[in-house]
Formats: sequence, structure tokens, C-alpha cells
Amino acid sequence: MLRSAVLGSLALAGSAAGCSGGGPPPPRGAVRTPPSRRAGPPAPADWNALGRDLQGRLVRPDDASYDAARRLYIPRFDGVRPQGVAYCAAPADVAACVRFAARHGVPVAVRCGGHGYAGWSTGPGLVVDVSPMDEVARDGDRARVGAGTRLIDLYDRLARDGVSVPAGSCPTVGVAGLTLGGGLGVTSRAYGLTCDVLQSVQVVTADGRLLDCDAGRNADLFWACRGGGGGNFGVAVSFTFRVHEVGEATPFSLRWPWSSAARVIGGWQRWAPSAPDEVWTSLHLDTDPGGAAPRVEVSGFALADAARPMEALTAAVGADPVDSGARGRPYLDAMTFMAGCGGSTVEQCHGQGSLPGQRPGGRFPRTDYAGKSHVAYRPLPGPAVEALLRRFEQGNGVADRSVLMDAMGGAIGRVRPGDTAFPHRAALFCVQYLAPDAPWLRGTHAAMEPYLGGNAYVNYIDPDLTGWARAYYGPNLARLERVKAAHDPGRLFGFPQAIA
Ligand SMILES: Cc1cc2nc3c(=O)[nH]c(=O)nc-3n(C[C@H](O)[C@H](O)[C@H](O)COP(=O)(O)OP(=O)(O)OC[C@H]3O[C@@H](n4cnc5c(N)ncnc54)[C@H](O)[C@@H]3O)c2cc1C
Repeated sequence: MLRSAVLGSLALAGSAAGCSGGGPPPPRGAVRTPPSRRAGPPAPADWNALGRDLQGRLVRPDDASYDAARRLYIPRFDGVRPQGVAYCAAPADVAACVRFAARHGVPVAVRCGGHGYAGWSTGPGLVVDVSPMDEVARDGDRARVGAGTRLIDLYDRLARDGVSVPAGSCPTVGVAGLTLGGGLGVTSRAYGLTCDVLQSVQVVTADGRLLDCDAGRNADLFWACRGGGGGNFGVAVSFTFRVHEVGEATPFSLRWPWSSAARVIGGWQRWAPSAPDEVWTSLHLDTDPGGAAPRVEVSGFALADAARPMEALTAAVGADPVDSGARGRPYLDAMTFMAGCGGSTVEQCHGQGSLPGQRPGGRFPRTDYAGKSHVAYRPLPGPAVEALLRRFEQGNGVADRSVLMDAMGGAIGRVRPGDTAFPHRAALFCVQYLAPDAPWLRGTHAAMEPYLGGNAYVNYIDPDLTGWARAYYGPNLARLERVKAAHDPGRLFGFPQAIA
């Protein structure tokens, strides 16, 4: 259903008026190139010429790698058939793709790790994939990171130098999508979001130019690239991040009986957002598909010893856990543990294959992910907790359904809402609802809406969220729209929830 909405919105615009010219905006994804410069739909010879222009590789439907190249992380989108997937090895490749798409009116989708929940990093036109640009070079207190880098490679290469960048958990998530939408991770309370440590970014814009963006150059675009969402303003080709030093870290977990779930939620939400910065926790509620009681658990990550935070949380809950554990490890081990590929090699923490971003020995599985989110600015009151627990009790024994509450606060909250495009600085925690079945997902989200209001995280992009622009961007929306108009007046970069 959503896919057809995407395809339907990608028709070519007939007019050459820019968005500031007073006319209606063109359909999203359409290209407003003056008719005299428009070459019409590309012929096979045009595609061949594009392929020859690239330092990287263009995969077309008749290529043996096509089926692997067109797939995202989430199998639900396997039916989408792009006309071409361009693995861009340099900014010039990206510029060639952008110009090709503009000239021929081909819809563009920009892709890095392919983990976007809505599948909008693919489409029926040209997929511009930045995966080959995955070099990571540390220089003093900074690291220059190719936009195609996967998180496991970011952590691995920086850990060799004893440093890191605050970023997300999943090893195969792309640094580009993550950073452009914000980037919440297990060290964000200590060091900020990924976008908070971004010092500069290089972006190929809709006119094919490569722009250096930082606090002094193209500062508006730099601001927008820190939380304004992937796919909106151009194609990021490299990032420079401030790094922090790393030592040992301690993943930990505590589990309570389901009968204590209300106390756990109450105690956790009082304690977690204002815990010491070096401690991050996530509260999980999970159904048991087999019909045993649902589970309530807190998993955590401490940059120091975990004993004190575990005691403090237990005291806040007012009930002892039935199970708990903690183990200090070298930083990279701790990150792979949190990523769900603990005990595996770095190679194994990739997707399997030989295309850019994959590894022949990769074992990290693809997963069918569907989620909704709330960014919580206030704690859940008693009736909300009761309603949430009822959803789990009534929805138990059927499917794997979860709610994850990730603590915010700390360094995230010390940045003002307008300083970067990510607005949710005063939030206490981020709630994710995950389930294979849309009715349960929507029902649980709707049950919490009266208590949590309409704020959401753009990196958990939600195709059926009403009021999505305000929910993701809050007071930063108007400035993001101005940046979009300045850098992509013809709306080359479009998808159903693109900034207008
Ligand atoms: C299993 C899993 C775990 C996750 N864990 C976390 C987490 O711990 N923390 C967190 O904050 N988020 C997390 N996320 C959400 C994740 O941050 C977003 O889905 C993110 O957008 C994925 O980026 P990607 O590059 O992998 O995906 P893609 O689908 O490739 O891209 C996502 C969006 O960014 C755009 N984009 C990609 N590359 C570029 C580029 N070079 N220039 C401009 N736009 C680009 C795409 O067009 C698309 O709109 C997780 C998602 C999954 C599926």
C-alpha cells in the first residue's frame, strides 16, 4: 500500500518553475529541469554511458548481481525494482548520477546501509548507493568517515586507535542515514548524538556541486544535516566527527517478574533520564510468543563499573530483579555485544555477500522490521502504564511484540533544540514500538498518544504517522523547509515524507 504511494508520487513534473517562484511545488521526487535541458527517459545507451562514467559500478536489471544489489536490510521491500543501482566510489560518481537523473527525469533514491524503516532508500528509478566510500581515517581528535561506512566498521577502525564516536547499535546500519537523522546510541548520554559530534560534512547537492559544510561554510546545510533526516537535501559523501577516547565498558541487564512491571516502569523512568551521563539504559517489554508471561527487562551500558547504577536502579524500582548480570569488556567487544553479534568477528557482523557494504563471511541476518515511535517529554502516568501493560497481556502468546524505551538526557539535553535540526533535546526517553502486525502496533501507539503527544524520531521513520513533519522536527521545521528550498528547489530528492 505504501509502496504504491511512493511510486505514485514519482511522476515527472511538467513545469520548470522553482519552488520559490509562487507555483505549487512539484510532485515529490520529480525533477524540474528546464525543458530545453531535459533529454527524456534514458535509453539503454544512456545507462551504458552513465556506467562508463562511474569509477564505481552501475548494476542494471540484466546484471547477475541485480537481485542482491536492489535489496535493503528489510525483506518487505524486496519487490522494488530500480532501473539501476549505482555504487558510487567517489563524489564525482554521485554528481554524475544526480545530473543523469535530472537530465532524464529519473527518480533518485539515496542509499547507505539500507535500514530505513519505510524502504525509501530504494525506488523505481536510480538508487545512488554510497557504500564504496567507506574509508575511516583518524586525524588527532577527529575522524574523517566515508558516508558509506557501516557502524561495525566505524567502531572497529576507530577502536584500533583507542577512540570512538557515539552512534547506534546495529552493526549494519549506515553512518549516513544514522547521522543525518540524529543518531541515538549507548554512549549518547555521555557524548551526545552522532550529529552532535559532526564537525563537517561534504554533500553533493541537486545541481551536482560538492559542498563543504561546517559552522562557517554552508552553515545552513550543515545545521540541517544534523538531525534533518536522510534523503532530504543532497547526498552526503563524507563526514568529519570529533572522537572520544575509549577504555573498558560494561554491558549489564536486570530482569524482573512481569508482576513487577508497573514498578519497573515507574522506577526506571524516574531514574534513567537523570542517571550519571556514563550510564545508558533501555527498558524492554516483550511478549512471549509461546504464551509464558511477558518479560520486563532493563539492559544497560556503563562506561565505568555497572555495580552502582544497577543498585541505584534496583532502589528506584523498589524490588529486586530475579536475574541480573554485568561484565566489563574492551570497548569493541562491548559494542558488538550490544549490537547482537557478540562473540563474532567483525567480518561476521556484516551482511553476507560480495557487494559494497557486505562481506563474504558476513552472518548478520536481515530482519523484517516495522516500528512506530514516540519521543517522551514527560513520564508515563499510572493510567498510561496500566494501558501499556494491558496491551502486552492481551497481545501475548501470538507474535514477537516489543516496546523499547531508550533513556535520553545527559549530553543530549545540553544542546539547545535549535542548535541542530534534531529538536528533541528536552526529552526524557525515546519509545519504540516493534511488532510484525500493524494492528497491534497502531493500537499500542494510539493507546500511548494521549499521554506522550505527537513527537517522534525521524530515524524511526513511520509511513503512517499523521502530522509527521511536526512530530519529527517540531520548531525546526520552518528552517528546514528554507534549507530545502535553497539547496533543492526542484525537489530532486523526494520521498513521501520528504521536507517540502
Ligand atoms: C536493526 C536496526 C537498528 C537500529 N538501531 C538504531 C540505533 O541504535 N540508533 C538510532 O538512532 N537509529 C537506529 N536505527 C534507525 C536508523 O538510524 C535509521 O533507519 C537510519 O535511517 C538507517 O540508515 P541507513 O543508512 O542504514 O539506511 P538507508 O535506508 O540507506 O537510509 C535511510 C535514509 O537516509 C537517506 N540516506 C542514506 N544515505 C544517504 C546519504 N549518503 N546522503 C543523504 N541521505 C542518505 C536515505 O535516502 C533514507 O532516506 C536502527 C534501524 C534498524 C533497522
